[in-house]
Amino acid sequence: KRTRVALIFGGQSSEHSISCLTAAGVFKAIDPQRFDVVGVGISRSGRWTQVPLDVVGGYRIVDGVAPEVAEPQCDAVWMVGEDGCEVATRDGATLVDIHGVDVAFSLLHGPFGEDGTIQGLFEMMGIRYVGSGVTASAIGMDKHFMKVAFEAAGLPVGPYAVATAHRLTHDRAAVIAEVSALGYPLFVKPARGGSSIGISRVTDASELDAAIAEAQKYDAKLVFEKGFVGARELECAVLGNPDAPLGCDASVIGEIRVRAADGFYDYEAKYFDEDGAALDAPANIDDALAGTLQDMAKRAFAAVDAEGLVRADFFVGEDGVFVNEVNTMPGFTPISMFPTLLQVGGMRYPELVGRLIELALERPVGLR
Ligand code: ATP
Ligand code: MG
Ligand code: MG
Ligand code: MG
Repeated sequence: KRTRVALIFGGQSSEHSISCLTAAGVFKAIDPQRFDVVGVGISRSGRWTQVPLDVVGGYRIVDGVAPEVAEPQCDAVWMVGEDGCEVATRDGATLVDIHGVDVAFSLLHGPFGEDGTIQGLFEMMGIRYVGSGVTASAIGMDKHFMKVAFEAAGLPVGPYAVATAHRLTHDRAAVIAEVSALGYPLFVKPARGGSSIGISRVTDASELDAAIAEAQKYDAKLVFEKGFVGARELECAVLGNPDAPLGCDASVIGEIRVRAADGFYDYEAKYFDEDGAALDAPANIDDALAGTLQDMAKRAFAAVDAEGLVRADFFVGEDGVFVNEVNTMPGFTPISMFPTLLQVGGMRYPELVGRLIELALERPVGLR
């Protein structure tokens, strides 16, 4: 029997368009001999809509404009029918029938997608899905609790501070004092986000208010980090299920070499400026460091309780090796770091996509 896969993309987060690019990359790599695909777009306003597959495959940046899921005319909601799950309009017409879907492949980045919310929906509907479960997704999306999990696992994390909206309003002077004590430059980040959106590099105290206001557009809770100066940015892909017989594997190490003098790999450099950064895969590092990073990537994967895949990001400088973050649904276009690292290791892109779907099929479903 052929496996029926729902690709789910777009979404309400600031990474909507990046998710569409990821969907195009994955769709083109899905083996049509093995899998039947249905395209499920979530518009910026949160409406679900079936997107024709030729549209999914055609998502790309045109003249600096990133793709989007078109807003559907009707108001779509999830409904659970007698035989399974479907997306229906409020007047009851079936919009996306995913009855009989074997695997949900959510390619959503950011809140309401990469953060455990849609994973919770799949769990309750009894649908198997690719990647991390509810807890790991939520921890991996929250740069505060992710650090707490890394610290508990004994992984090195750089100096940081956290501030809730309440503290920023009612105890702002104390927050500013705590943050300034980290030293400059420092990075101000929305706690939950991705693609560098809402992140600022701050070089002195006068820039702090503007950076806080910018980050708070995306999340009420903020994380402040001491900036690593002159450190290398190295990344490792991890693939597998730690509890499955085959376990999980760490890829070769990749390096991001940002062209900007401040070394900040920002949104423009990630997706819009072809010369913004060079990706080296494999990175030019010695075997001992590669081994250390692979080991740490697997420990970071386990620290957040991940499943399926993560991309673990590190800073390596004179002070040593630090874990920056894991992404439980990393960028996934053919030129993105995650698939590139696995390809360098000998796994072709269609094989990688097939493996992720197989890993999802291995998951138990329902209460366990
Ligand atoms: P992703 O798209 O990888 O999910 P993100 O939005 O989660 O990104 P980070 O990876 O935390 O954000 O930060 C984005 C970039 O900002 C990093 O790739 C790096 O270039 C820079 N950066 C972040 N934190 C620091 C730091 N503490 N010191 C130096 N550079 C940093
Ligand atoms: Mg991230
Ligand atoms: Mg991310
Ligand atoms: Mg990152």
